[in-house]
Amino acid sequence: MGRRFVVRDGETWVTCEELIDFLHEYLDGELAEDRRRLFERHLERCPSCVAYLESYRLTIALARESAAPAEIEPSELPEELVQAILAARPA
Ligand SMILES: [Zn+2]
Repeated sequence: MGRRFVVRDGETWVTCEELIDFLHEYLDGELAEDRRRLFERHLERCPSCVAYLESYRLTIALARESAAPAEIEPSELPEELVQAILAARPA
């Protein structure tokens, strides 16, 4: 019996918070085998963490695709606002 963790209800069980804390290590394959099993067991029963994991994975994939984070173009100032700023300036 090589198992170090015995998973029963209410016992050795990673919480959603713990799972999220170790998500990075999990995806990088840095998680110890026994912990990874706990992770996967949690994911089998927790759809919300599965969804979180998927979106996290997607974020990483997108980040790796473009070396630089996507820049958000500053939207042009509405003409009305420009006029209001100009009007407020002392002459
Ligand atoms: Zn969860």
